[in-house]
Amino acid sequence: MSDIEKTDCLIIGSGPAGYTAAIYAARADMNPVMYQGMQPGGQLTTTNEVENFPGYPQGITGPAMMLELEEQAKRFNTDVRSGYITKVDFSGDVHKCWAEDGKEIHAKTVIISTGASAKYLGLPSEQKYLEMGGGVSACAVCDGFFYRGQETVIVGAGDSACEEAHYLSKLCSKVTMIVRRDEFRASKIMAERVQKTPNIVIMYNSETEEVLGDGNGVTGALIKNNVTGEMTTVPCTGFFVAIGHHPNTDIFKDYINLDATGYIKYEKPGTSLTNVRGVFVAGDAADNVYRQAITAAGTGCMAALDAEKYLASLE
Ligand code: NDP
Repeated sequence: MSDIEKTDCLIIGSGPAGYTAAIYAARADMNPVMYQGMQPGGQLTTTNEVENFPGYPQGITGPAMMLELEEQAKRFNTDVRSGYITKVDFSGDVHKCWAEDGKEIHAKTVIISTGASAKYLGLPSEQKYLEMGGGVSACAVCDGFFYRGQETVIVGAGDSACEEAHYLSKLCSKVTMIVRRDEFRASKIMAERVQKTPNIVIMYNSETEEVLGDGNGVTGALIKNNVTGEMTTVPCTGFFVAIGHHPNTDIFKDYINLDATGYIKYEKPGTSLTNVRGVFVAGDAADNVYRQAITAAGTGCMAALDAEKYLASLE
């Protein structure tokens, strides 16, 4: 029992939602403990330049912004730890969580900010240019601007791919959509919108064989028609992947209400409350619509304020 650590506030995950929650919770004397998770800094660490987060008039890289948020959370004495939570038990009034090193933590409040992870194709060439910030992205709203006037490719045929293709079509000279079947998964209205957009070219029955590049950045994509076997090289400087996201919520599923795709359901709209008293959610773990750093930060603030109010109600 002596190894058990007690805390008023445990924050799980370190994207903009988690760090904002930490800043608010720390300034409210809740002495938050944060486990950064598998990808410290979250999805923004795979983004090149962030230009749409208010307060950075010249823009900032995703990793640099996350370091600044971390520094700000630490300035108010958030206990930021590398490592991740592997198991939880939310069946009692005290919320039990276990870290990957076996440490058991009992928290009066828990803020879940574990985010979501974009799915990628898994091709080595895709991962290479993703990791070097060389033209592969899973967020058109974040990165589309950098391809203004240029040709881009987007993979996927769901509502996200259609929405992002349409967004890109306003910025880029040409957008090629790679659809692996002979039809869209997206709703009819979204599919029709891209089909009617003159600078969107749709390649059906098509899959990406390789993301092509010159070592510094993307120059094209090698596309295979999965019916005829024909190979086509599509020139592009931006390669967007929009094949869905995984919310990182698996460890909570026995206690927290999730929707059919794994996103956490808010107990009460307009708050950060989950179905478990004292457990709050912020950011993309509960958001499959907006998925922006600024909306995640906003809900992180809400979660900390809701947690503070809950703690006060216990006294
Ligand atoms: P979806 O799961 O709906 O669609 C994923 C798409 O990616 C499918 O077309 C799928 O192809 C394709 N895909 C998956 N894996 C691969 C692969 N390895 N290679 C090539 N293509 C692949 O995800 P979304 O993110 O689009 O949407 C998630 C949810 O959010 C949906 O319920 C959607 O309706 C909703 N949403 C709603 C919006 C709105 O209403 N404005 C906007 C965005 C999302 P296949 O069809 O062949 O399986």
